[in-house]
Amino acid sequence: MERDTRPQDNVRTHSRPSDLKITDIRFADILGAPMRCILVKVFTNQDIVGFGEVRDWSSRSYAAMLKERLLGENPCDVDRLFRRIRQFGGHGRQGGGVSGLEVALWDLAGKAYGVPVYQLLGGKFRDRIRMYADTDWEGKGTGETMGRALARRMDRGFTFLKMDLGLGQLAGHKGAISAPSGVLEEMRRLGEEYGRFIDSAREPLGEYRRIRNRWYEASSVANPLTGAHLTEKGIEILAEFVAEVRRKIGDDVPLATDHFGPFSVEDAERLLRRLEKYNLAWFEDPLPWQYTEQYARLSRAAAVPLCTGEDIYLAQGFRPLVEANALSVVHPDVLTAGGILETKKIGDLAQERGIAMAIHMAESPVGCMAAVHAAAASENFLALEYHSADVAWWDDIVEGPSKPIVDRGFIAVPDEPGLGIESLNDEVIGAHLDPHMPGLWEPTDRWDGEWSHDRTWS
Ligand SMILES: [Mg+2]
Repeated sequence: MERDTRPQDNVRTHSRPSDLKITDIRFADILGAPMRCILVKVFTNQDIVGFGEVRDWSSRSYAAMLKERLLGENPCDVDRLFRRIRQFGGHGRQGGGVSGLEVALWDLAGKAYGVPVYQLLGGKFRDRIRMYADTDWEGKGTGETMGRALARRMDRGFTFLKMDLGLGQLAGHKGAISAPSGVLEEMRRLGEEYGRFIDSAREPLGEYRRIRNRWYEASSVANPLTGAHLTEKGIEILAEFVAEVRRKIGDDVPLATDHFGPFSVEDAERLLRRLEKYNLAWFEDPLPWQYTEQYARLSRAAAVPLCTGEDIYLAQGFRPLVEANALSVVHPDVLTAGGILETKKIGDLAQERGIAMAIHMAESPVGCMAAVHAAAASENFLALEYHSADVAWWDDIVEGPSKPIVDRGFIAVPDEPGLGIESLNDEVIGAHLDPHMPGLWEPTDRWDGEWSHDRTWS
């Protein structure tokens, strides 16, 4: 057999990268993994398909509206295409479309050249990714029950833990919170109504709309504006909750907390001072992340590491908090932050100030593997969130990664091309479709030809 003489013949590729073109983008929305996950397929002219995912509880429309801007393009030009669509992302779920497509572009680039995504980012710092187990459903009642729930996580091999600490622990305790009468009761009532809406998925659409919009308004009152405050008794209950948990799980294992509640910076300061001795890994989202100066004040008031970022879009969104030295841990979600490369940039930005990076993740194995590659390629990475420890069919959504995907608290960084996912399992996905967004990879032709004059200056 004749030896290859052209350079490109000596590069192992799985396609012809320079001729690769995007031909279609399609979606499937699944429910209960544990959230609503919006899976994305980006099709090409060469028989390779890129997998992506829009942020949990977001909308496929944020990605579909970008289809016309990507059709016919070479997906290997990830950064060039990202800069074209970047203006259509925003904080929270609005970042989901841009970020989810960026992930699919990296998957295609990796598959086209036959290399894992982390390699395209500059290589890896580690061979396995430490997962931190969120535990926000079971064991909430007392420190004792929460401690037991966390100990079960440790038995399964998890070496980094998180639990909720805040409003949820104070329900039923008279005299724990002072607040203008009716405010918290109304929030609770609307929250429960919204919870039933998510679980049932059977009521008429108009009723859903009413419940959702009322909950949006009630839950969007920023912490300092609710007028609710922790009493001394409330602080004591929360501190005792953590003490009980620590008695159960010991002091050696890192323990983070989340979901503080509708309280002020003063309340957070009083509570954090009380919690210093329990060596928390971090205290997450004490306040809306937009309040940079309140974060800076809090970080100086108590020796407890502060963490935020799951709803921040782009590295530039993190810059004010990082430059104010207001955090100990940045916490981007790859599917809000702007994707895989932007998450690495956030990690590098934080590292300049001695700040570590944990990664938020409540998505399917597609979003998870995107985070695995960003984590592998970021030096200051600490731990990646895992929300699906109790979802039996989570692993079955994909074929490719070695199973169990999370093995004794870690994910092995894959060396397969792209994200390391060979295929999506349509049988499993079909069995868990969101009844309000039925249809499996249906045509999206109605978005072809949809565009605007995109330049942001005149
Ligand atoms: Mg959180």
